[in-house]
Amino acid sequence: MGNRFVTDTVYNSKAIMDRRNFLSQTAAAGIFWALLPEFSWAKPFLGLSDAGFTQAPLPYAFDALEPYFDARTMEIHYSKHHAAYVKNLNDALASSKLLATASGSADFLTQVQTLPENVRQKIRNNGGGHLNHTLFWQLLSPQKDQQPSGGLAEALKATFGSVADFQKKFSEAGKSVFGSGWVWLIQTPNRKLEIITTPNQDYPLMDFVPVKGKPILGLDVWEHAYYLKYQNRRADYIDAFWHVVNWKTVGELFAH
Ligand code: MN
Repeated sequence: MGNRFVTDTVYNSKAIMDRRNFLSQTAAAGIFWALLPEFSWAKPFLGLSDAGFTQAPLPYAFDALEPYFDARTMEIHYSKHHAAYVKNLNDALASSKLLATASGSADFLTQVQTLPENVRQKIRNNGGGHLNHTLFWQLLSPQKDQQPSGGLAEALKATFGSVADFQKKFSEAGKSVFGSGWVWLIQTPNRKLEIITTPNQDYPLMDFVPVKGKPILGLDVWEHAYYLKYQNRRADYIDAFWHVVNWKTVGELFAH
């Protein structure tokens, strides 16, 4: 039901065809695959094959986000943490028949409630980890201090009062996550912008998430994302995040 809901309400077939036509003409096409895992063209970006999932290359060098996100953290985050989610996801899948029946679609990663009970929690955690990190790397940019523009800037102002007010609310939500999780800006099926948080590695389009939507911005607030440089100072890490947001990509996600 989860993905039917999203498919029917937000991504009706005309919109999908329009998007596919657009995507064939844009170098940024890859980003959308992570957001719409229910479609078979998710395959290249999430690295889905009959053998399981693989990580796409990090779209910049480990040190490209310095001094805000340090090289060592980025290397460990991508090469160890994200890689472990992919490995554990593949291990869980190896013991199930899900890949054989997925027909090249990563749809099942968000249909958590329909997964076999013996692998449900593992796929929720590690499939979410793969989706979230795949998206997260694309939401960061070595082109520092970008600002939102166009329709996205207008929508942020209309919804939150100003871009600064949005950033304040998003930051507060990130700080409020108890333990490990994520803070997101999502677009709900009625196109409304909302800030939500998810615990652990839950992805904003998973079927059980109460206020669901397409993630267009997200921040990992697990300690592994900041502890080496910021120790317990999550607020400083969140402040640093705003310097490396890929607003160009966020704007593209919002527009489509
Ligand atoms: Mn992480």
